[in-house]
Amino acid sequence: MLTQPDSLLKYLTDASDLRLPDGHFIDGAYQAARAGRTMSSEDPGRGEGFASFARGDADDVDDAVASSRKAFAFWRKTPPAERGRILARTAELIRRDSERLAIVECLDSGKPIAEARGDVSGAARTFEYYAGACDKLEGSSFPLPSNYVGFSQLEPVGVTAHIIPWNFPISTAARGMAPALAAGCTVVVKPAELTPFTALLLAELLTEAGLPAGVCNVVTGTGTEVGAPLVAHTGIDHVTFTGSVATGGHVMRACAANVTRSVMELGGKSPVVVLNDCNFDSTVANVAGAIFEHAGQICSAGSRLVIEAGIHDRFIEALGTRAEAISLGHGLRSPDMGPVSSADQRDRIIGFLDRARGRGAEFICGGQISPDTEAGKGYFIEPTIVAARPEDDELVQEEIFGPVLTVQKADDVDHALHLANCTRFGLVAGVFTSDFARAHQLARDIDAGQVYINEYFAGGIEVPFGGNKQSGFGREKGIEGLRSYCKLKSIAARID
Ligand code: NAD
Repeated sequence: MLTQPDSLLKYLTDASDLRLPDGHFIDGAYQAARAGRTMSSEDPGRGEGFASFARGDADDVDDAVASSRKAFAFWRKTPPAERGRILARTAELIRRDSERLAIVECLDSGKPIAEARGDVSGAARTFEYYAGACDKLEGSSFPLPSNYVGFSQLEPVGVTAHIIPWNFPISTAARGMAPALAAGCTVVVKPAELTPFTALLLAELLTEAGLPAGVCNVVTGTGTEVGAPLVAHTGIDHVTFTGSVATGGHVMRACAANVTRSVMELGGKSPVVVLNDCNFDSTVANVAGAIFEHAGQICSAGSRLVIEAGIHDRFIEALGTRAEAISLGHGLRSPDMGPVSSADQRDRIIGFLDRARGRGAEFICGGQISPDTEAGKGYFIEPTIVAARPEDDELVQEEIFGPVLTVQKADDVDHALHLANCTRFGLVAGVFTSDFARAHQLARDIDAGQVYINEYFAGGIEVPFGGNKQSGFGREKGIEGLRSYCKLKSIAARID
């Protein structure tokens, strides 16, 4: 049942009902950090700490990896149907606790409660989806001469590490943990230090659902103190990293040293290509949603509007009006848009905007810090649209990770394609047109891991997701995401 808006506000002064964990989750139970250290997590909607959690180090990582390695010996042999039942029960338990999880996510990440509820329901769906896949991991047979038998089988890769960013804490944790567990792997999760709680709560729910101790461990703390020793650990067989390109580079170097497999889900600067013949009203709504959902802090945010000249003026006017009507506020007050995640992130975004002003950029709307009107605190930035910028402008080329849309004006469709492909990123792209052949030509020619046609963010857990170019490699979600956690073994036998 959904909590009424007014009763949600009590969590601004007292979060004790939420029973937030303050330890790592290792070997089936919460444990204090070996060194006894803790750190504080901020509510970005208030700009102040609201709960503390364990600050781990390499010793805690060692404990978690040893626990997961021990558990791998039996989890890999647990019948696939039994693994599936545990994951299915976990999906039910996430649904049972959905409101608590959504409130925790809202306080910890700042996102509006409706978006947090959507993320929690997506996490439940992820466990449900992979629950059904556990007993369908089939190999194939090879056409050898009749005196041979040849076949392949899929085996779990082993102990997997999952490094999670702060923008989608529960969804990103779920989309790594569920397929890894489904494949028979054990997991060690390192949530972002800004948003540690929902990964811990997921581990607790998995245990309640029957997951044996050690199969899922969660260690909290900073990237340097926990993330770095985890990805460099010789007891780790696979790393799924979701985060920035710069940190991804460090993680890849650590993986290279041990030849550890990896999936890299990195940044984006995704184009939304709008052609003259689009459905005007729904495209305006989609373009706004693509950049202002979670204040633009989405790897796949549509942060560049590549728009054909014929529709440009009318579209920008309508989009600006829509952006100016967006309400800002603490996530628990159900605003249209919440804060950005931290003071550092706010200052980084404002740095981009100040430098753009220095280069003479014109702002269609926004561009300023805007404290929450109710409480006068928190890390808010106005929804911002910057008028057409040249291809080599910093606002076109760099991921800002905030509510900032940069316009690029295209002379025609070919020019739009060129602009869509003009950055080092290749995560997603949107295409809006009523000409379906055109849409599919653009989908074919844009270099991105996924293309949305006439609905930005279309698709669900069934659709594989991942980047091209510097947006990374490997895929999560879908059956493709499950393969990341499997090793293919070929067996050939002479039988005459
Ligand atoms: P980040 O790279 O700063 O941190 C990501 C995670 O890495 C955190 O848990 C952090 O503690 C950890 N970390 C930091 N240093 C580490 C190290 N040396 N070794 C191991 N782990 C380390 O990223 P962020 O600021 O938390 O997230 C924003 C970035 O993530 C953006 O660039 C965004 O595009 C990207 N992202 C990508 C996807 C995707 O699916 N492609 C999804 C969400 C976010």
